[in-house]
Amino acid sequence: ATPTSIMVGTGRAAELGVLFRKGDALQALHDVDIVAFDKTGTLTEGKPRISDFFLAAGFFRSDVLRLVAAAESTSEHPIASAIVEAAASDGIDLPKPRGFEALAGLGVRAEVDGVAVLVGSERLLTQAGIALDALTADANPAQLAEAGNSSVFVAIDGVAAALIAVADPIKAGSRAIVEALQKRGLKVAMITGDARASAEVVARRLGIDHVVADVRPDGKVAAVEALRAKTSRIAFVGDGINDAPALAAADVGIAVGSGTDVAIESADVVLMSGDLSGVLKALAISRATMANIR
Ligand code: ADP
Ligand code: MG
Repeated sequence: ATPTSIMVGTGRAAELGVLFRKGDALQALHDVDIVAFDKTGTLTEGKPRISDFFLAAGFFRSDVLRLVAAAESTSEHPIASAIVEAAASDGIDLPKPRGFEALAGLGVRAEVDGVAVLVGSERLLTQAGIALDALTADANPAQLAEAGNSSVFVAIDGVAAALIAVADPIKAGSRAIVEALQKRGLKVAMITGDARASAEVVARRLGIDHVVADVRPDGKVAAVEALRAKTSRIAFVGDGINDAPALAAADVGIAVGSGTDVAIESADVVLMSGDLSGVLKALAISRATMANIR
């Protein structure tokens, strides 16, 4: 491609709210034949709400919510915001957590009022050796997933205390974007840190048949590389800190502009509005630019 045509294409894209951070991304995007999306905050709104709260015997909602919200108060994760907001709307004052630790793609750990709080995926609690039977007798994560929820597990001092169901609606435009990409002959995949059951419900609603679930940030990179081995070039679209390594590893990393700074800095292309239709605009411009040149 000539520098001039790249400049014209990049300028045209910027007018449409699609920022090419690197000129060669315009060229690379033209050769992409698979687009993989992160789920939370990319295909979904990333603004989950608590839809259900299950407690193990001997635990009370207000106590658990206070501890969990305190533990989550410094986390940037959308699930953390949902929990902190729920505590605020219940008028709960939050103590300061100590020893806060974010476990990327898994959850958080902190000490609140001298109590050890662990919040996150089923995998996180299972890995910590915590038995979940006291919760899964009452609440069925598979059934919750079928109804569009993800399950967040809470352990207090090493004992399963609560299962919080959170619902994160699919973005209005996601289905149309997936269909449009497939119509253009591109393969579409989803790579997510969420549990398989919840991921598959979202994928089914969107018509995505290739799903990699329950992966941490390095697992997202491995998934990107495995898909590339099967095709030629891969674009990955994501928004979170947990997506940064995969955005860097993909041939074209596309960050959703409403996402975190780390994701944006790792990307080749930024969708300024956070609207996924920017993926189609970026593709169209790259194709038009390359057609002018060849
Ligand atoms: P995605 O890949 O869909 O954006 P993440 O990698 O951010 O998802 O998170 C994967 C899973 O880890 C979440 O579905 C949740 O179960 C758990 N998790 C991560 N961070 C948190 C947190 N701060 N609080 C509770 N759960 C969390
Ligand atoms: Mg995300």
